[in-house]
Order: sequence, then structure tokens, then C-alpha cells
Amino acid sequence: MIDPRKLPDTPELMIAGPGELHEEDLEALGRQVIAHYGDLWVQLHGDTLEALGRVMGASEPPYLMPGTGTTCLDAGIGSLFEPGQRVVVADTGFFGNRLAEVAEAHGLEVTRVPVPVGEVVDVGALEEAASGAAGVLSVHVETATGIRHPIEDVAAMCRRRGLACFVDGIASVGGERVEVDAMGLHGVATASQKGLDAPPGFGILALSPEGKQRVAERSAPVGSWYLDTRRWDFYRDEWGSWHPSPVTMPSNLTLALCSSLRRILEQGIDAWVARRARLAARLRAGLCELGLAPVAPDGHAANLVVAMWSDRPAALQRYLAQECNIMISGGLAPTMGRAIRIGLMGRTATDEMVDRVLEGIEAALKVLPTAPEAPPA
Ligand SMILES: *Cc1c(COP(=O)(O)O)cnc(C)c1O
Repeated sequence: MIDPRKLPDTPELMIAGPGELHEEDLEALGRQVIAHYGDLWVQLHGDTLEALGRVMGASEPPYLMPGTGTTCLDAGIGSLFEPGQRVVVADTGFFGNRLAEVAEAHGLEVTRVPVPVGEVVDVGALEEAASGAAGVLSVHVETATGIRHPIEDVAAMCRRRGLACFVDGIASVGGERVEVDAMGLHGVATASQKGLDAPPGFGILALSPEGKQRVAERSAPVGSWYLDTRRWDFYRDEWGSWHPSPVTMPSNLTLALCSSLRRILEQGIDAWVARRARLAARLRAGLCELGLAPVAPDGHAANLVVAMWSDRPAALQRYLAQECNIMISGGLAPTMGRAIRIGLMGRTATDEMVDRVLEGIEAALKVLPTAPEAPPA
């Protein structure tokens, strides 16, 4: 059996998530377990929720659920909508497809609006498809393409039409400006391990006051005990002075997340996002100079994941891992086998690492065979 204390060395992560932890957060993660109730926990949990609310621009405290980002796609969609309702889903790629699958799993009728590869969602097309629907679901940053979609415009359209607007912000919160209340979003789900630079293990869901109102007014029960946001409200409201969550919380993960949120808020969320944007722009410009083209159209490239077309992504990944000790990602539908994706998350989101990636790819392009790889089956 593997001895987890004697792992072989692994390459530094610059994949499309998760990122590596900062040293201080690693220290927080590695301390002894504390109880998930009592005064110390109540303060840690409360401060963490407050910090998450500030980062997400949400006046209502977000939900912090052990699990992953997808846990909160499930919780958000399952709580905001009722079985039999119709929702319109922007089919932005791998994670747009997941939104549709999650909606279907909750008994919703789904209308998919295709989004051509390399383009942003067409708000007019969503609006046309949304006549008579209950809501619209969209990914903010589609990790498969590195494209940032115009969720403010989607939200404005939803507001005009009285539709609920739910966003997958898993690859955007912490790396892009996300203002749940001010943008008029009803719900935004994210995860601990991407733009928040924390370990994987938490889904995070912010509902706006209007979003919470919709949940309060639903007539059918939520088809899950764990994922019903009102269950989490109950414990926070009724047991908040002692045990504010319905389940045993991973206290070490919370410590690491809190430690990371402190760092983000010390810099200020605007400065934090601006720094990530500058880094992403520099990486993209460097890769363009090497002859690669971004998947994202001008002005819509994401800050946490840079996706570039490549006819030999596997060879580039292999070269970087073997020669530079850096792990990057390949494509994911619809860019599978046709792109590389480089994450700017966590400890390795630095100028120095961007330089190393650029040097590595420049060297790889000089020595690798120029023949394109066979496209995926
Ligand atoms: C990573 C990611 C997911 C999946 O998140 P998990 O934490 O693995 O559940 C979903 N959507 C987007 C946009 C992502 O980047």
C-alpha cells in the first residue's frame, strides 16, 4: 500500500485547477483538528463566511458545503428551481454541459442554447429561448475554453424578463470580479480550490436576497436533505451560537481557506483580480509571440485559465513535465486534443512561473516534431 508520507516528487501545478497551496495556508491545513462547534469554531466559521461574502459581493452569508464546486451547482440549482420547470442553459463547453446535466438530474426541462467554440454566449439567443422559462443558467468562465462569458448582460436580461439567473463561478470567483447582489445574479456557485487558492474540499454558494426569496417561496420540497439551502439556514439561525452547520465540518480545510481569504482581502479584491488579469495577459501575449493563438476572442479571455490552440498539446504537456517540472493541462471538450490550458491559481500564479512556462514552451517548439498529433477519436 502506498505510503502517503513518501510520495515521489511531483511537478509544480499550473493546471486548470486545483492550484498549489501557499506555505502559510499549508501550515494552517496541517495543524491539529479542532472541533466543529464551540466558540473558536463559531468565530472561524463566521469570519470565513463573511470573507466569502465580501469576495463575492454577496450581502447574505454564502453557504460553505463540504464537497466540491459541483456540490453547490447541485445545491443552487436544486434549491432555486422546482421539478418540471424549464431552464435555458448556455452550452459553453464541458462545464456548460454539466449545468444542463445537473438541471436534468433535478427534474428540470432543459433548453440548451449552443455557443460556437471561440465565441461568447449570445444574450439575444438566450432571451429568445427563455420565453416561458423559469430561469437561465450560464458558466462565467468556461474552463474548457478559457473564455469569460458576459454574465452581467445575461443577468440584466433575466432581470427584465423576471427570470432567475444562476451562474457557475467555479473558475471565476477570486480571479474575476463577481458581484452577486450588484450584478443581479440569484445564485453563484464556486469552489475552494480555484481562484480562492485554497485546498479542494468545499463547494461555496452565494444567493442574493432575491435568490433566497425565490427559495423561500418554492412550493415543492427540495429533493435532497443535504443540498437544501434552507437546512443550512436553519442551523446557522437556530444553532449559530454553538454549531452553525448541519454536518461535521472539515475544520482544517476551513483554516486553510480562511488563511487564503485573509491574504486576498488584505490586498483587496480589486487589486487581487487586477494582478491575476495582468499575469494572464502577460502569459497570453508571450504565447502569442511564440505563434500560438488564444481560444478566447479579444476582450473575453479569462484570468485563471489561459487556453491556446495547439496541434500538439500532448507533446507540449510532456515536454514541460519532463524538462521543466511543470504540469499544464490539455484541452477539454470542445478543445480536447486541440489546445493547451495553463492555470494561474495558488502558489504558482507568479511572474517567475509564467517566465518558466514561456521559456519551456519556446524550447519545446524548437525541438518537438512539427507534425500535428492525431485528433482525439
Ligand atoms: C472545476 C470546475 C468545475 C468542477 O468543480 P469541482 O470542484 O470539481 O466540482 C465546474 N465548473 C467549472 C467552470 C470549473 O472550472
